[in-house]
Amino acid sequence: MTTRRLTRRQRLARTAAVAAALLASVVVAVSLLGGTSAPLIPPTQHVSASLAAHRASASPGAGAGAGTALDAAMFADGSCVAFAPTSGNRHLTVFLDAGHGGPDPGGQGVTLRGTTIDEAQLTLPVVLDATALLRAQGFRVVDSRTTASSVVRLRASDLAGSVFSLSGLHRDVAARAVCANLAGAKALVSVHFNVGASAANAGTQTTYDAVRPFAAASLALATAVHTAVVAALRAVPSWHVPDDGVVTDNQVGNSLTAQGAAYGHLLLLGPASAGFFATPSTMPGTLTEPLFLTDPFEGTVAAGAQGQHVIAAAIARAVTAFLVPAGH
Ligand SMILES: [Zn+2]
Repeated sequence: MTTRRLTRRQRLARTAAVAAALLASVVVAVSLLGGTSAPLIPPTQHVSASLAAHRASASPGAGAGAGTALDAAMFADGSCVAFAPTSGNRHLTVFLDAGHGGPDPGGQGVTLRGTTIDEAQLTLPVVLDATALLRAQGFRVVDSRTTASSVVRLRASDLAGSVFSLSGLHRDVAARAVCANLAGAKALVSVHFNVGASAANAGTQTTYDAVRPFAAASLALATAVHTAVVAALRAVPSWHVPDDGVVTDNQVGNSLTAQGAAYGHLLLLGPASAGFFATPSTMPGTLTEPLFLTDPFEGTVAAGAQGQHVIAAAIARAVTAFLVPAGH
């Protein structure tokens, strides 16, 4: 989370963009009612198409070709799945994690048109898109999940009613690190979206863990992803997304327990901790939060096919640049 707020200038620019989007929505509605004007199609209009595409792609697609489950006993169906390169072969594996899923919807927000959106639903299409892009660049890609489900194969104690129990949530996140390790990945990228206490909280924030032996490489990966995502979002006219920076994972904790708070890291990126966490990820990693779902403008971008693709392509470019030195 962050307390970053938009500057007055950014607010004004967004207000204009919001007004244009709402006006376009009215134009579309009027045209659907029999009006004759050709509607503009702002990013807002991608929302419903994207959600439909997301539902249609909520199976192990990830860019053609079925994946291979790394451990069907430990992981849910469609989770922890490996995909071979589709063009060339760099003999390098990337681990991509679509944040949340299954009993955990993640943070919740709203679009400009009032559609409720949740994080788990929007991280998945970004990851599936980035998976296809990286496979086409010659990488093997392992995805923590390729469907709307959990990553860990659920057992009764993982649930408290329809949501995760605390131990279930812990097991599901820990399973993602196990999957990254099983994958033999050289880079770990976890995709999330942010939520704020106010609709004015906005921007891109990227996290890494500073205490791991490979912290310098994690910072390089985080910086590459962050720079690429910010630049790509800002390249779209009228998308004024603030830069909330690269931060360490002790600054973004949202621990639900005293033990988690004492741990002081994100489980997916952080170190082992006796009695709390035994299976840390073993490669450079970063967690990106490209947008705030609680800002209706950014929520609309996050829910749209264009926004998701811009983010996915930026992640794929950054990972490629990180793993493949220039000129190779
Ligand atoms: Zn999240």
